[in-house]
Amino acid sequence: MSGYRFRGALPRHPGPCGWTALLPPRQTKPALQAGASADVVVVGGGFAGLAAARVLTQADSTLSVMLLEAGEIGEGPAGRNSGFLIDLPHDVSAGKLGGDHLDTARRAIAKNRAAIAIATGLNLGREIVDPCGRYSFSANTEGDRHLIAYAAQLDRLEEPHRLLSAAEVTALTGTESFTSALFTPGTVMIQPAAYVRALADALPCPVHEYSAVTAIARQGNFWRVTTAQGAVTAGKVILACNGHAGRFGLVPRRLMPVFTYASMTRAFDPSRLGGARDWAGTPALAMGTTLRRIRGMEDDRLLIRARYTYNPSVEVGAGPLARAGALHRRKLALKFPMLADVPTEFLWGGAMALTWNGAPLVEEIEPGLITALGCNGVGGTNATANGIVAAERVLGVSSDLGADFAAKPRPPRIPPEPFATLGGKATLMWKEHRTGALA
Ligand SMILES: Cc1cc2nc3c(=O)[nH]c(=O)nc-3n(C[C@H](O)[C@H](O)[C@H](O)COP(=O)(O)OP(=O)(O)OC[C@H]3O[C@@H](n4cnc5c(N)ncnc54)[C@H](O)[C@@H]3O)c2cc1C
Repeated sequence: MSGYRFRGALPRHPGPCGWTALLPPRQTKPALQAGASADVVVVGGGFAGLAAARVLTQADSTLSVMLLEAGEIGEGPAGRNSGFLIDLPHDVSAGKLGGDHLDTARRAIAKNRAAIAIATGLNLGREIVDPCGRYSFSANTEGDRHLIAYAAQLDRLEEPHRLLSAAEVTALTGTESFTSALFTPGTVMIQPAAYVRALADALPCPVHEYSAVTAIARQGNFWRVTTAQGAVTAGKVILACNGHAGRFGLVPRRLMPVFTYASMTRAFDPSRLGGARDWAGTPALAMGTTLRRIRGMEDDRLLIRARYTYNPSVEVGAGPLARAGALHRRKLALKFPMLADVPTEFLWGGAMALTWNGAPLVEEIEPGLITALGCNGVGGTNATANGIVAAERVLGVSSDLGADFAAKPRPPRIPPEPFATLGGKATLMWKEHRTGALA
């Protein structure tokens, strides 16, 4: 009999997330109590789990589906990110898109757009899902070179884009900190906490919050999924708890848990910063800073996302969070000196899970037990696609997306400890150093 027990602390999401704080309070859905049964249980209420539950319930209204989330919907990483649903391959380094890789890029774009279609299909209004596009900001000549090379690859892919000069970026952002930018129109920006709440609220199936799964055990042809106060028996289980899946011991050494950090300034008078009142930009160089100006009714805020840390325990303490916050302050002062005195109001972090080869970990690891894991840092699209494909495997339907996933190489095992941690930390430090600490 197969059995997997969740070991270690339940998910703790560091710091208060600004996106949730800006929303009205919400009534949480009741925890799972006592015994229940379902055709499919989805473990985890992030992008992957919610997408899986949505696809399942839309495909077959007779299927009984239940979603179990350890904490509150919208409080996990899916609700506390920077809100970019990016359609193009995320890494803007030209090499990734060169020559034979055009076909791979086209498949990645199709996957990302399938994921984005879930968000745009909800008709939530532009304050939650805004198809406004995205800028890639460069702050130095290396970044400029990347953007020019990337733009050339977008030409080959026949994807629309526009390069901006330093003066044009200044007119947009109100700061002279950038040397160039590239605009691509297909990214959809979300208010992540509001979006994740809406996605959960739109589900016709039971969603139980504060229902962390503590054990998954096979019982004959079924799986018994246990929480602190209840248990559910199901024919199929979709495991969509990303990095935390490692704690069940079911995907040993396949996932590398990494945290990243965001902060949001206190609201400031818009006259203090020129340019447009809402824009969103990712860095030209992978380890740089994500920035987003958020337009309020009367005031605006800036969101800063920077710093990655490797955390195999899937936990971070106060120290790394404070250090990330201090780095954000230095970046704010450098990039937006006119706002240097505006305090940080919210500082938070969130867990992600990378695989060694960047491939998703979506597979039936035992009959009826399917993983939707390995967001690889851009879960708005990647994890959503993982959830879609996991649901299709449950339903037994095939699609181009599913075929694309099936053709990908399986994520290999990461090195054993302590090599994984040493290697993970050293790689992140080296990449950050190479990009430039304040880029
Ligand atoms: C600060 C920050 C900025 C980011 N910016 C972006 C961005 O702009 N665009 C982008 O695409 N990505 C971004 N990301 C990454 C993105 O948020 C993640 O890739 C994404 O959330 C992964 O989705 P997921 O559904 O796989 O996992 P998660 O969102 O982590 O969801 C997994 C859920 O499982 C729950 N869970 C864990 N264990 C259990 C259990 N035992 N029982 C029940 N539930 C459990 C967790 O509480 C969690 O809610 C960012 C991340 C952070 C932290």
